[in-house]
Amino acid sequence: MPKHKGIKLRYIISILVLFAIISTTFVNMYTSNLLFQETLSEKYLNKNYEYAQKIAYDTTLLIDELEKNIKNLASTIGSEDFDQAYMDQWLLANGNSFNSIFSTDEKGVLLWLSPIEAGGDLIKPGTNLSSDKLIEKALLQKRPFVSHPYLSQTGRLLLLISYPIFNGEGQYKGTANGTIYMEDSSSLNELLKSHAIQDNSSSFVVDNSGKIIFHTDPSNINVNVSEYPIMDIIMSEESGSTKFVGNLGIEYFTGYAYMPSTDWVVVSQTPASIMDQPLQDLFKKMIFHTLPLIIIILVISFFITNRLSNSITKLAEYSRNSIKDGKVHEVRQKITLNSYVKEVIQLYHDIQEHILFLTEQNQKDGLTGIGNRRMFDSQIKDWVDSKTTFALIILDIDFFKKVNDTYGHLVGDDVIKYLAHFLQEQCGKEDRSFRYGGEEFILLLKDITLDQAYERAENIRKYIAETNSPTGKPINISLGITVLNENDTHPKQIIERADTALYYSKQHGRNQATLYENI
Ligand code: GH3
Ligand code: MG
Ligand code: MG
Repeated sequence: MPKHKGIKLRYIISILVLFAIISTTFVNMYTSNLLFQETLSEKYLNKNYEYAQKIAYDTTLLIDELEKNIKNLASTIGSEDFDQAYMDQWLLANGNSFNSIFSTDEKGVLLWLSPIEAGGDLIKPGTNLSSDKLIEKALLQKRPFVSHPYLSQTGRLLLLISYPIFNGEGQYKGTANGTIYMEDSSSLNELLKSHAIQDNSSSFVVDNSGKIIFHTDPSNINVNVSEYPIMDIIMSEESGSTKFVGNLGIEYFTGYAYMPSTDWVVVSQTPASIMDQPLQDLFKKMIFHTLPLIIIILVISFFITNRLSNSITKLAEYSRNSIKDGKVHEVRQKITLNSYVKEVIQLYHDIQEHILFLTEQNQKDGLTGIGNRRMFDSQIKDWVDSKTTFALIILDIDFFKKVNDTYGHLVGDDVIKYLAHFLQEQCGKEDRSFRYGGEEFILLLKDITLDQAYERAENIRKYIAETNSPTGKPINISLGITVLNENDTHPKQIIERADTALYYSKQHGRNQATLYENI
């Protein structure tokens, strides 16, 4: 089989199918991934926003509540007799709300402090606190206020809630104060902590100077984050959510809520890496669900391609077999194509028609339309091989050159056609006539004896000799006859015998038929 360049159909289709499947799967995965990411981003942004809002809301309520408590303390101190024990009891009764409470007179001198050890060595009843900026502010303003968390003289980061004390006559008597240590346990601290979201999320509270006053990771408390770009958004005194990349290059989903009452911002954030696992799961699920389909499609496409490719290969083989060794071979047997593809079936029929046409063309004589030398060779070979009984008559026009010379080649052609047509008419159903070359013809007569063959030859000779040819006059022919011998194994042997007989006829006056067996 000759080798031709090119890629096999099954490879092309397989590659195409694979490419189609892989690209669709990837586009699908990419789109799903994108959608999933968007949905998750939205979810985490909302979640953090809601957390921040909730913490801000709860903290505002709690600070309100704490303010009320201090207000009550102030009114108690202003109107009732009380002592250290009362202060201790009050602190206890207010549960975890404050880490310490204290009161000053109108000059800022510490009157009561609970727990008494909260002041350490420095601060005790009698100490003048007016040098403390906040106490100074409270004394001056004589109004309630909530401080920003600040570093107190005791070195603690604390929040001060202060309320002015007035006695029954409305005289200003000093301040009642509650402190909350931002790093220690307190109601505020508990509240902030309770909202710490699971899943690596963190939350923190920033005051209006950009200082972290609370963080789920206490080591971050007091850190100033005012320089971070996200702070501009957070400090815009609005609430919202955004995605941002932190200073360590980690991306966060961030929700923030502004608390107008304290001027703080609550921030809740989740690292974007939270999406990694769900995205991986999605990817695995998609692969798990698509893989069987991919395999099925591949198997089906391979099966179809294989059949298609087999049909085309068979057709190619069929077509190749029809022309072998530079000859046209009629490929009689039908091939089983096993194909439902319209084009393949159409191609099969077309090739069949072409082969048939070529076979005919190849074995027909162009001038007379009867079998040519090629057809004769194949026919006699068939009969010799199958030991068919037959006689061979070879005949040649006598002095045909003269016909050509006298009447011209065209008339000569007509004479050849006329003789061919006549010979064809003489053939029975199973006999065959051929133009052997020039103006020589051969008849193969099946199942016939020597005598019968001679008689047929004589009849033909006589008829031709008595009938006007296209020249307007009869022509003559010489004939040589023989039959298949038992010993004949090759067509050449029979042809040579017939030729000898013909030569004999020519030599002995022409216009006669000679039986080789009689020579
Ligand atoms: P002979 O009796 O010995 O056969 O004499 P001949 O003249 O017939 O001699 P031969 O058979 O050798 O000559 C054949 C001639 O037939 C030679 C050639 O010009 C002519 N011829 C062969 N083929 C054709 C053909 O197709 N058309 C025409 N018009 N003439 C042909
Ligand atoms: Mg001749
Ligand atoms: Mg001749």
